[in-house]
Amino acid sequence: MTSSNSFKAENFVIKKEDVAQFLKGLSDYTIYAPVQEEDTVLFKVIQNPDKIALHITNTVKSPKFVVLPQTETMLKVTKGKENSIKIDEPVLDEKNILFGIRPCDARGIAILDKVFSGDYKDPYYVKRRANTIMIGLACTDPHRNCFCTSVGGAPDSTDGLDMLWTDIGDLYFVTVLTKKGMKLVKETVIFSKATSENTRVMNKVHKTAHEKITEKLNADALPKKLENLFEDKYWDEVSMKCLGCGSCTYLCPTCYCFDINDIEYRDKVKRVRTWDSCQFSSYTIHTSGHNPRPNKENRMRNRVYHKYKYHHDNYNELGCVGCGRCITYCPVDMNLKATIKELAEK
Ligand code: SF4
Ligand code: SF4
Repeated sequence: MTSSNSFKAENFVIKKEDVAQFLKGLSDYTIYAPVQEEDTVLFKVIQNPDKIALHITNTVKSPKFVVLPQTETMLKVTKGKENSIKIDEPVLDEKNILFGIRPCDARGIAILDKVFSGDYKDPYYVKRRANTIMIGLACTDPHRNCFCTSVGGAPDSTDGLDMLWTDIGDLYFVTVLTKKGMKLVKETVIFSKATSENTRVMNKVHKTAHEKITEKLNADALPKKLENLFEDKYWDEVSMKCLGCGSCTYLCPTCYCFDINDIEYRDKVKRVRTWDSCQFSSYTIHTSGHNPRPNKENRMRNRVYHKYKYHHDNYNELGCVGCGRCITYCPVDMNLKATIKELAEK
């Protein structure tokens, strides 16, 4: 396997009992990993590796906030003496590790990379991303709402990752995909070279996970199909019960719309960027008061068109990684998989 940066992938194993020691050795980094608190699992900064919950299918929120925070101060302007001003920009030199990120979420960040560090470079995103190492965990038991294999992904996809770990019993099989990943392996003697038997078991685990995702949606047909469905009555029907709460977009690993506001304080102004949602009625409102997407059917249509047509037109890939969060957590059971099927059959 050769990763996109021409690094030749190498395979290792690590004993499960040694994982805590490996993580404790990474004291230069802020480590984010899934943590269970009561019924909810979220990516959090890890102080104690024993709190990491790798057994769950996925976290409620995607870990995209590590590279694209929900709220971030872009700059601060402070009034000084005699009308002087001081401008402070954030120092983004924190080194982060995303440990246990699922392959769909890593693909989500690979999609954000194209948006924020392609032709147009967002300096905040670019710095955070350069300082972030992603250690993925292959899925062994996909959730019923997962459909990564219908949108170009897989339970063992390596897109965007520096390493992919696979649970093979008492060991994790570790595929190192980049120089950044190899640096972590070389810093410790905990890893050993994978044997052919380790590789055989890893391949079997990956194959079993693929077989568990039995449903194959015809999502690839949508970029073409949607060319003729903009005025279709379908959008009125499918959006009927949507509440416009925006949960689907906030939890989605590939949604990246944001708003920027200058917030005034007595002696300073802060420029703050926050996530926004195309499902909010105020999202497209113009200064004149005109709103080109006044109804929820327009907004629902836009969400589907963005993921399955506009993003594809711009980047030649779908803008959805099939994580299923927008289905699992929608308060009124809107089902994107059903929408994809219905549109593909039209
Ligand atoms: S989570 Fe469901 S109800 Fe809320 S905006 Fe999305 S589709 Fe509509
Ligand atoms: S649109 Fe839904 S299934 Fe697709 S990546 Fe976003 S949250 Fe996941």
